Amino acid sequence: MLNGIHMWNREHRVAVSVEVTDRSVNGVSLVGRNNNPVAPEALGLINPGPATNNNELPHFDIRLFNYTIEERVGNRGPDVLFNYITAIMAHEIAHAFGLRDAGDSTDAHGNLIGNPPLGGSSNGSMMNWTRDRTVVYAPTIFDIESINLIPRRHQ
Ligand SMILES: [Zn+2]
Repeated sequence: MLNGIHMWNREHRVAVSVEVTDRSVNGVSLVGRNNNPVAPEALGLINPGPATNNNELPHFDIRLFNYTIEERVGNRGPDVLFNYITAIMAHEIAHAFGLRDAGDSTDAHGNLIGNPPLGGSSNGSMMNWTRDRTVVYAPTIFDIESINLIPRRHQ
């Protein structure tokens, strides 16, 4: 989980970073079962969800779901598990920075829009649910450029 945070803090092309401290008002936890009826397949979540117009970073509570992650990783080994956890954590942190899930809004015809068009691949953004989490576990160029498009008040 710390590595997922590191994926952002090592990225010097973005203006935001995360400090890890036990005095934070924000929280990160690993919980066993995902009992969320709205998204039972979710590997992680953040409350509140991404703000639509945040120029300030919101307070957040991130949860990663142990059983759901292990189920998805299966018997592919500790390296894949590590990449998954890194990818999920970096994804949730991106929500705290203001990015939305790729394709979570629809056009007038009900088609999902917002999927990064890079190369036509779902691996163009770590905000895409269908990304390969063993490959995309750090911000892509698309994610970095998106983060930097969000206006922020200097703090
Ligand atoms: Zn998400």
